[in-house]
Amino acid sequence: MNSTLHSNDISEIVEADRAHLWHHLIQHKPFETNDPRVIVEGKGMRVWDAKGKEHLDAVSGGVWTVNVGYGRETIAKAVYDQLVKMNYFANSAGSIPGSIFAKKLIEKMPGMSRVYYTNSGSEANEKAFKMIRQIAHKRHGGKKHKILYRDRDYHGATVATMSAGGQDERNAQYGPFVPGFVKVPHCMEYRKQWDVENYGERAADAIEEVILREGPDTVGGLCLEPVTAGGGVITPPEGYWERVQEICKKYEILLHIDEVVCGVGRTGKWFGYQQYGVKPDFVTMAKGVASGYAAIACMVTTEAVFEMFKDDANDPMNYFRDISTFGGCTAGPAAAVENMRIIEDEGLLDNTVKMGERTVNNLRALMDRHRVIGDVRGKGLFCGAELVVDRQTKEPVEEKKVQAVVADCMAQGVIIGATNRSVPGFNNTLCLSPALIATADDIDEITAAIDKALTKVFS
Ligand code: PMP
Repeated sequence: MNSTLHSNDISEIVEADRAHLWHHLIQHKPFETNDPRVIVEGKGMRVWDAKGKEHLDAVSGGVWTVNVGYGRETIAKAVYDQLVKMNYFANSAGSIPGSIFAKKLIEKMPGMSRVYYTNSGSEANEKAFKMIRQIAHKRHGGKKHKILYRDRDYHGATVATMSAGGQDERNAQYGPFVPGFVKVPHCMEYRKQWDVENYGERAADAIEEVILREGPDTVGGLCLEPVTAGGGVITPPEGYWERVQEICKKYEILLHIDEVVCGVGRTGKWFGYQQYGVKPDFVTMAKGVASGYAAIACMVTTEAVFEMFKDDANDPMNYFRDISTFGGCTAGPAAAVENMRIIEDEGLLDNTVKMGERTVNNLRALMDRHRVIGDVRGKGLFCGAELVVDRQTKEPVEEKKVQAVVADCMAQGVIIGATNRSVPGFNNTLCLSPALIATADDIDEITAAIDKALTKVFS
């Protein structure tokens, strides 16, 4: 496939980018001498850049978002049809796609009941934080307001979500933060913090220790990713979630699961928490909800939480005093309904399980030849390979070598990711999160590129 833009248009676009765009998450100095990367087209698993180079995208739009792949005309059509009929009204009123998607979503989430629309994962998380705080005020005189978050987890880029951000390296320059957020230890077994047999239970008990230290009557919420994403692709050890659930119940702590990455199929079930039999009070989701065809995020909660905001209807303070202007856009839910239909009709959850296993098996097979791979982790199409200098000491490889592997794959035409930078022990995991439509050939092409890149960088 060739780009439909002419080379003149392209050079103008690249120049406009260089002159006026401020890209996310990147140092711009190199763009003074190199062209910024501009992606101009996509189809299925592949994207084309402004230079006409084709790439196999192993990270679903860079940040595990485009779950159903690029170029889905039926989603574009659903959005178009909806926009010409009714594009927007504030969500104090409802909409046709808003109602339809809420119903379909709740069918996939037994035990949950209410959907609150917003624009981004960060914002969805803030909605849950605000509800937990409001419940603390309504039920506990404001005292049970603290929210626990976990080391290495990420919940967003706003100041409140950074206050619940477990990746210190991201936060270092943006404090002071919002009070009332308290960190608990991560649960990564590969980098053990406790020398015990039941690692999952022990890591969950560490949460209880923090609750007891802070005072259970001060802790209202616990916010966790089902599988930690950018913080290191950390899959929970066995027994972890069961114990987390017990602890929340014991201390009446509302469990908020951040499914911004894991939600809508990424792990091979509709939601990551469903892998572990957990019953959350809040679930937030964003990226895969409409696969990036429209901006939409959801905060989903139970009827029990919803009911708390209905008692004493004559009290003017007694409702959720919150709005998200673009939570009233209809493009998001219209795209989300079609996105969900595609996942169902094309059997993408089953494909995710199969292709996820293939990815992990391929990466494990590389361990024989590449001593630098210390650990391979994954759940569905959400996989990581941690790179270490020495398998015994688990000393991480230098960050620049991880970046060299990513760059070499890019040169081969395969886009892979790596976990966040500048943290010893956590900046060294290659990340793969291809679209849920990936075929066996795609997976083999991705892992073959990694194989070549590791040979080049480490021999
Ligand atoms: N939670 C998790 C787990 C995420 O990975 C992200 C985004 N990377 C967010 C929340 C924030 O989402 P957004 O960028 O849409 O605000």
